[in-house]
Amino acid sequence: MFTGLVVFSDLDATLLDHQTYSFQAVLPALKKMKERNIPLVLCTSKTRAETEVIAGELGLKHPFIVENGGAIFIPEGYFPGSFYKKARVKVTRKEGYEVIQLGVPYRRLRSVFKMMRKKTGLKMVGFGDLSVKEIASVTGLGQKEAEMAARREYDEPFFLENSFECRLIENLPNPDEHIIGQNHSVGPVPGEAAGFWPDQKSEDTEDRDKLYSQLKELALSCGLEITSGGRFYHLTGKNDKGRAVRILKRLYRLQLGKIITAGLGDSENDWPMLRAVDLPVLVARPDGRQVKTPGIGVKLIRALRPGPAGWAEAVDFILFMVDLFSAENRKETGKKQGGRHG
Ligand SMILES: [Mg+2]
Repeated sequence: MFTGLVVFSDLDATLLDHQTYSFQAVLPALKKMKERNIPLVLCTSKTRAETEVIAGELGLKHPFIVENGGAIFIPEGYFPGSFYKKARVKVTRKEGYEVIQLGVPYRRLRSVFKMMRKKTGLKMVGFGDLSVKEIASVTGLGQKEAEMAARREYDEPFFLENSFECRLIENLPNPDEHIIGQNHSVGPVPGEAAGFWPDQKSEDTEDRDKLYSQLKELALSCGLEITSGGRFYHLTGKNDKGRAVRILKRLYRLQLGKIITAGLGDSENDWPMLRAVDLPVLVARPDGRQVKTPGIGVKLIRALRPGPAGWAEAVDFILFMVDLFSAENRKETGKKQGGRHG
């Protein structure tokens, strides 16, 4: 019989607004989840430092997956120690967490990234090439958040020549003085409103797709992967969000018995996560762009609104469906028991 729901969620442009990083719209739905003790597992390309802060602001004390499945951070004591052996995973203890590491160390990613740049002659700019203030500029984060975004462990986000970010960096008269926004509630990134954000359909799209495939092949030849997030490309090990989700599913099953899992995302790097859950939700892109849907073999739930508004809509729908399912189940069990007693 069904006993529990576990929800996995991407952050950027899914639970957080693409431009402002606000999550206000999810709060009523999140409150309902908390009242029902439904775990919300954040599953993001962000770093541990960034995710910790957002989890704190959302009042979450559940495990979280960082840097595109690079590692799972589980609050110490969240699962009994014996579960890890049963789930066949290795954990290390670090600063109040039980950590399951799945990714390739950042140092190795950087050396392959530099090799790729040399080999292709392309202008590729990674977070490792940028100052904290430049990271603030290209992400729209405040100084403090950009510092946390710079603390990479398993994922190198990057952008290419002719992208909006590249132009932004090139046009900074003095990067030290160019900081966009001071906190999560920043306004639109200048330029985005002007309409040259890279998601925009343009003549460059085909060239960019071609470049992307070439880079992907080169990364593969080094045992690494490139995926496209909402805003940046990401160079990682062969870890992905899906592998991390499947490990947590094993642990939650040991704890809760039979579970139903839902996953919410908006970009290509969410497909492995969406493939790993029972109820995959695709949140609309903020620019209305239709993304290629993942071949996941189960019916995709589409949230028509983008970002946190779409997130809230989808979670409300899932809670309603799960309640209906549980009520049906109770009725069935009642009938069987009634039959036995009668
Ligand atoms: Mg996203």
